[in-house]
Amino acid sequence: MEFVNIVGAGLAGSLMSVYLAQKGMRVKVYERRPDMRKKDIGGGRSINLAMSARAIKALTETGLIDEIMTLAIPMYGREMHSKTGQLTFQPYSHDPKECIYSVSRAELNMRLMNKAEALELVDFQFETICEEINPKTGAVTLRNLDTDTLFQAQGSRTIATDGAFSSVRYAMQKMPRFDFSQQYLSHGYKELTIPPLPDGSFRMKREALHIWPRGEYMMIALPNPDGSFTCTLFFPFEGKTSFDSLDTEAKVLAFFEDQFPDAVPLMPTLLEDYFTNPTSSLVTIRCWPWVLEDKIAILGDAAHAIVPFFGQGMNAAFEDCTILSRCLDEQGLDWMAAFEAFQQERKPNADAIANMALENYIEMRDTTADPEFLFRKAVEHYLEQHLESYRSRYELVSFTTVPYAEAYRRGQVNQGILKELMKGISRPEEVDLALAERLKKDRLM
Ligand SMILES: Cc1cc2nc3c(=O)[nH]c(=O)nc-3n(C[C@H](O)[C@H](O)[C@H](O)COP(=O)(O)OP(=O)(O)OC[C@H]3O[C@@H](n4cnc5c(N)ncnc54)[C@H](O)[C@@H]3O)c2cc1C
Repeated sequence: MEFVNIVGAGLAGSLMSVYLAQKGMRVKVYERRPDMRKKDIGGGRSINLAMSARAIKALTETGLIDEIMTLAIPMYGREMHSKTGQLTFQPYSHDPKECIYSVSRAELNMRLMNKAEALELVDFQFETICEEINPKTGAVTLRNLDTDTLFQAQGSRTIATDGAFSSVRYAMQKMPRFDFSQQYLSHGYKELTIPPLPDGSFRMKREALHIWPRGEYMMIALPNPDGSFTCTLFFPFEGKTSFDSLDTEAKVLAFFEDQFPDAVPLMPTLLEDYFTNPTSSLVTIRCWPWVLEDKIAILGDAAHAIVPFFGQGMNAAFEDCTILSRCLDEQGLDWMAAFEAFQQERKPNADAIANMALENYIEMRDTTADPEFLFRKAVEHYLEQHLESYRSRYELVSFTTVPYAEAYRRGQVNQGILKELMKGISRPEEVDLALAERLKKDRLM
């Protein structure tokens, strides 16, 4: 029977273990943290993620989607909050049924682990940290944190899903000609809370992703099933208005009242949250290769951590699992060939979503409140409705499984087309559809 080690029982590792066990393989998963189903590991259930087509496909293939959908809240668009508290709803698509979903990270992770264990071929070992991988032999050295003892994992095939600061990738970095780069944003983030009303209902529109765009910074909020919202403040680390400068309760309150006045009355624990919750950094990690012969493959954030502004990190990590699973099926379990096919197919797509996530960072904080941006979106929705098979980049990324690199390419072409079509018009209905059709044929095909 095939035997595979997985390092990291986060989202990607737990899902990958399900995919492999469903092929009849025995899987041992090593995880640094305690079992989150038994112990509160901090962050808890309130941290949520936007889930879209690529994660949905993976969860469908592994038979989990119905269960996960019972936890998920649909979000049909962005609810923009201006400084005066004015609300503008921007749908994600012209099709009112298209949405992304808010889902609890911890619940999702726990359900994936339960599913894996139910398959009986997967064994999780918690509080065990991967310390070293021998790139020549593939041997994995781990430390049992409970007994503080080192031991070697069985077998010599490992899939590493140990996140952005992967120890396995770190070991691979010592190989000759291994490419690696990490790029931090000058902004970090902090999670804050909008609790439910006493009767358990939501204090803002439930089925939307809320955004307070303010140019140099922004706050977003995603709904949770218990009626609360998890807010994330994306904010400079340093400078005149920054995490560094907001260092007293009075300054924080004055800043929030000035910038997010409609949110302050909804955030009774603002000051406590602000000073208790950690400030975390945002990084883009690129590396190559992702595999070592038939011995090691890294995937998810370990291979390509991205900034969260397209809501795609988990979606991309899950899509990695889908593609690796397909490569294994196509290569008849020839691991060397499957790993190679996987990295060749995936790397350009990981680079594309990394770029798009960085671009969306600018779009979300700077332009979502800009009238020209709003008009371009309106014209784009008009085209989605009236021009056969026209899809915006956002739709391609979030509502389809068109490879990211292709979505990126089409998005760039779309920008040029939109620019020409917007010349001299003031309403979306004035778009010259014949010209649009011609431009689409010439440039997109
Ligand atoms: C603020 C923020 C918001 C985000 N929002 C979204 C969103 O809306 N939608 C979306 O799709 N994505 C989002 N993401 C991205 C998403 O969280 C990640 O892409 C996703 O968690 C990657 O999954 P992973 O399994 O690769 O890594 P992780 O989830 O990081 O899991 C890694 C696991 O490995 C374990 N581990 C680490 N080192 C070791 C070791 N040496 N030995 C053993 N175990 C180890 C860790 O404890 C962890 O359990 C967001 C990210 C951030 C930071």
